[in-house]
Amino acid sequence: MFSYRHGFHAGNHADVLKHCVLLEVLKYYQEKETGFVYVDTHAGAGLYDLTGKWANTRSEYADGIGRLWSATDLPWLVSEYVSAIKALNASHELTLYPGSPWLALQLLRSQDRLKLFELLSAEADVLANNLDQQRRLPPRAIKLERADGFAAIKAVLPPPTRRAVILIDPAYENKQDYRSVVQAIKDGLTRFATGCYLIWYPRVNRLQVDQMLKQLQHLPGIQWLQAELTVCKAPTDQHGLFGSGVFVINPPYTLHKQLQLALPWLAKTLAQDNHASWKLRANATETPKPH
Ligand code: SAM
Repeated sequence: MFSYRHGFHAGNHADVLKHCVLLEVLKYYQEKETGFVYVDTHAGAGLYDLTGKWANTRSEYADGIGRLWSATDLPWLVSEYVSAIKALNASHELTLYPGSPWLALQLLRSQDRLKLFELLSAEADVLANNLDQQRRLPPRAIKLERADGFAAIKAVLPPPTRRAVILIDPAYENKQDYRSVVQAIKDGLTRFATGCYLIWYPRVNRLQVDQMLKQLQHLPGIQWLQAELTVCKAPTDQHGLFGSGVFVINPPYTLHKQLQLALPWLAKTLAQDNHASWKLRANATETPKPH
């Protein structure tokens, strides 16, 4: 039985990186009129109370979004992200943090669709309640299922408009998740090769992380980008999170440049010791076609 609850980690350095990248990709997709589907395979609860017990058990958000809240020299990618979080906190005090489905929901246009999957009933129920409070969209725009997000990829792709952004954001509490990610991506690419797939991964001392990344990098015929942020020295055990990364398949052509500007700033601002660093790699040698 797994016990991961995102409420303990919401707004931490890993959420900052993941949500910065997600917002940039979603905004890029909205430059075209044609609608797209946003698929969130591991959706979480959607909204997190940063004044609550869970968030303050280790106050991870304080070293994540908390460090950006009053900063004034933000690179564009980060400023777009911080503006999105500020829009949710009307009092200008940081009390609420939006999860990935919530960020997508705020951007959703009438022609776009959300398909959200969350396996844990308790989290799925909270997410459903949170979504119910947003009445501005017709129910057909959003579909939430209490189901395995890895398996769901096969069911939702390809999308009718042939445009989709897919976020795969497991907790990796179960080591099988590393293999499931690779299989889900293979399934997804077989059905829909031109989708933009975002895979979040932890920087932890586990062989499985490197194995998964190598397998993803060697998938035939794909264009990928990998952004990584390390915030502190790697601990000796397998559990300590010392950073995170996002692996993007079919990245928008704007993403590399925006990350080149944002990652050094994020590494400096989110550093917990002098081992903080960043990495940006891509295999694309030509400008990808717009999606
Ligand atoms: N994507 C969210 C965000 O950025 O706000 C955070 C997601 S959290 C890291 C991972 C979530 O996946 C947890 O809420 C967990 O209950 C859920 N989960 C675990 N296994 C799952 C599965 N096989 N399918 C769907 N959800 C799963």
